[in-house]
Amino acid sequence: RTLSDWLALRQQFPILSREVKGKPLVYFDNAATSQKPQVVIDALSHYYSYYNANIHRGIHTLAEEATMAYEATRDAVRDFVGAAEREEIIFTRGTTEAINLVAYTWGRKHISEGDEILISGMEHHSNIVPWQILCAEKGALLKVVPVEDDGSLSMSAFHELLSERTKLVSIVQVSNALGTVNPVKEIIDAAHRAGAKVLVDGAQSAVHLDIDVQDMDCDFFAFSGHKVYGPTGVGALYGKRELLESMPVFQGGGEMIKEVSFEGTTYADLPYKYEAGTPNIADTIALKAALDFISGIGKAQIRAHEDELLAYATAELKAIPGLKIIGEAAQKVSLVSFVVEGIHPQDIGVLLDNMGIAVRTGHHCTQPLMKRFGIPGTVRASFALYNEKTEIDVLIAALHKTIKMLT
Ligand code: PMP
Repeated sequence: RTLSDWLALRQQFPILSREVKGKPLVYFDNAATSQKPQVVIDALSHYYSYYNANIHRGIHTLAEEATMAYEATRDAVRDFVGAAEREEIIFTRGTTEAINLVAYTWGRKHISEGDEILISGMEHHSNIVPWQILCAEKGALLKVVPVEDDGSLSMSAFHELLSERTKLVSIVQVSNALGTVNPVKEIIDAAHRAGAKVLVDGAQSAVHLDIDVQDMDCDFFAFSGHKVYGPTGVGALYGKRELLESMPVFQGGGEMIKEVSFEGTTYADLPYKYEAGTPNIADTIALKAALDFISGIGKAQIRAHEDELLAYATAELKAIPGLKIIGEAAQKVSLVSFVVEGIHPQDIGVLLDNMGIAVRTGHHCTQPLMKRFGIPGTVRASFALYNEKTEIDVLIAALHKTIKMLT
């Protein structure tokens, strides 16, 4: 793809032509949520203006059209993560709900006193807290694989911590705070040999890396629609069929049943067993537009573009005196986290916003990781397919100004 191809893609994101504080918006907060292309916005508005209806139960035309569109997204997600069967895709509100679903259902059934759950020191709070709740309830132990100084996972510690007591390894594929890509295949392979199941938190990886749950052989995989150029409020959990079939139900209600009587209830088949109540129809439908948009470009192309931005940003940032990058693992994608000596990250964020630049500052929902590095937080610039080198130049110039003002 040429530069003009990327510019044409960028033009499909209407928000990117707005100004902030009188300056053209530079949006570098993509790891928090990505912007939406017009096709996604159109899919939402088309559903509400043309075929809004409740799904699965109606026999009228609108209900049928809405059901078809909703279920078409399930097929698109199956493709997107490389699952074998559409029944293995459960719609959730996002990664957080997907992880909680597993903790609540699989976890409640399979975790008991003395069992161990293994996570890492770079997990997002949403892959820590559900397991703490479960462990407290069951008298199980949460163990943590430490993070090395360069932001990579200590694989030797992982292999040491893994034992026959480990029932689950729940691991982030790409760190939202450092950009580190973890060797999930090696982790999954070792965990399986130890008899443990593995959940992969794909909230950050799904948009950058090719995901193939069959090749990875993970037991569960979770991601969020809003980080893959789709809407908020929808995401998915992939689970291996035999696991999903044997797990107890999550929420009870309409749609998840076969037959209800006061004597007892039988549950629906996969995937509906885990989708109680009227789901988020509009956002789920629009998620397909986002996934089609990504596959229309190709993840390899997107990754190459983002890698170029990352390399450029890393080199330029390193040339700034007093600036330190946190997380320089060999395997990284698309974001750079940094601190500047003597300046609080938040002060940098406020001044950058005054110049139209959106970055994230703070602990990035990874407080234990910040503690590990002995910092209150970082400034994080995260890149997407529509970002350009010239925007990094704007960031670098703004940082020079900011540091001058604050020191
Ligand atoms: N895990 C990681 C690595 C994340 O980056 C995020 C979102 N910041 C989540 C989980 C939670 O995702 P959501 O808030 O969309 O449920």
